[in-house]
Amino acid sequence: LPLRGVNVCKQNGLLILSVLAVVIGCLLGFFLRGKQLSEQEVKYFQFPGELLMRMLKMLILPLVVSSLMSGLAALDAKCSSRLGIMTISYYLWTTFVAVVVGIVMVYIIHPGGAAQKEDSEDSKKPMTSSADALLDLIRNMFPANLVQATFQQYRTQRVPELIPKPTVAQLLDETTTRRVYIYGIQDDNGTDVQNFSLDLTPPPDVIMKTSPGTSEGMNVLGIVIFSATMGIMLGRMGPNGSALVNFCQSLNEAVLKIVAIVIWYFPFGIVFLVAGKILEMDDPSAMGKKLGFYAITVVMGLVLHGLFILPAMYFFITKKSPIVYIRGILQALLISLATSSSSATLPITFKCLLENNHIDRRIIRFVLPVGATINMDGTALYEAVAAIFIAQVNNYELDFGQIITISITATAASIGAAGIPQAGLVTMVIVLTSVGLPTDDITLIIAVDWALDRFRTMVNVMGDALATGIMAHICRKDFVKEGEQVRECKNPS
Ligand code: ASP
Repeated sequence: LPLRGVNVCKQNGLLILSVLAVVIGCLLGFFLRGKQLSEQEVKYFQFPGELLMRMLKMLILPLVVSSLMSGLAALDAKCSSRLGIMTISYYLWTTFVAVVVGIVMVYIIHPGGAAQKEDSEDSKKPMTSSADALLDLIRNMFPANLVQATFQQYRTQRVPELIPKPTVAQLLDETTTRRVYIYGIQDDNGTDVQNFSLDLTPPPDVIMKTSPGTSEGMNVLGIVIFSATMGIMLGRMGPNGSALVNFCQSLNEAVLKIVAIVIWYFPFGIVFLVAGKILEMDDPSAMGKKLGFYAITVVMGLVLHGLFILPAMYFFITKKSPIVYIRGILQALLISLATSSSSATLPITFKCLLENNHIDRRIIRFVLPVGATINMDGTALYEAVAAIFIAQVNNYELDFGQIITISITATAASIGAAGIPQAGLVTMVIVLTSVGLPTDDITLIIAVDWALDRFRTMVNVMGDALATGIMAHICRKDFVKEGEQVRECKNPS
């Protein structure tokens, strides 16, 4: 028995170290909170964690581009369209289920207090155009400049509506609320210095901008669309495209080899990432009752969806054990918990599925990057809960049509959210505006968002990983085993 224990430790060494790192990070963070470190000291302390994030982010672009191009080029046209249609339909279906789970939970728990019908003029007033936000989503699918898309995402700026109203704090009497400012900064020449930013304090000496057309983060959606199209075209070109396909395959393998090295830095980086976040967080005792119930609602919804519904779907479709499958991706789940970013977790999820769960790499190369970009069940669930919570707090009773609108826009908002920390908070503007809820009430939930973000990111990653397993099962007959170079689709119909 002791020998077996040693073997388990050897095989799962890295995983055990990562779990320990999360625990040590929490303990260290809470211990240092009592030490009143200065802002500068906290920054130095967070440095090793920051390095981990940077290493992971560095790998996203080459991984997404090389996976999609080589993955889709390796399939023939019928096979890739079959896989594409099934994957996207499955992703939309699970996201929609997540939204329904969120809506049911928020109506059962009612975290925002009893709703009374109140038809005030103010609450009915459409706050801002949700069409803008939806147009941004579509714009991001077609980046005008590919190089720029690798570091910028288009986002229409909505400065004036997001400045909080003084009534916000009064609405939640037992809740300590924080205000969020969304602003743009220009230098003297009118050039953007900082385009779009969320902050808790009003920025000093900023010029408020109201014009649309600013950008932030990497536009992964645009890159995915471009790479997938290129991959399909390369596949159609046959031997003429093989030089680029071989290049992408080599790049893909090289990136995975880098991941294998970077992975040893994880446990160390995680300690500082987790502890650093705890040092930054607000005092949990200041959290009000309603906000606490709201957080519990989101977490319960995420647990239900991530630990029961998604694994049950996996079991019913594949007839295999979801527990064994989830064990294989534990490392990726821990990284998503520590980083709050499904894009940053992508290289690790890729490695886990390939090496632990033995999924065909041609399936992973397509299903996973697309999932990390558009499939965010956790985010969709949270957006629906948050929007209805805000309605409840405002005593605004939503009719059935508005609930349907929320479910559709929460799905769209989760597709539009980038796989980066707290992206869902920003895309929530789409959901709130679609039913005329005040967008500045995002401030009500910001105090707990950093924590909820971690859990919803875990569910996002879990959804992508389980979907890859399901697609591998469904398409198993279409793919000849092994033979990475072979372009085949035995049963395309
Ligand atoms: N942090 C999430 C992710 O990376 C996105 C969000 O919901 O904010 O998947």
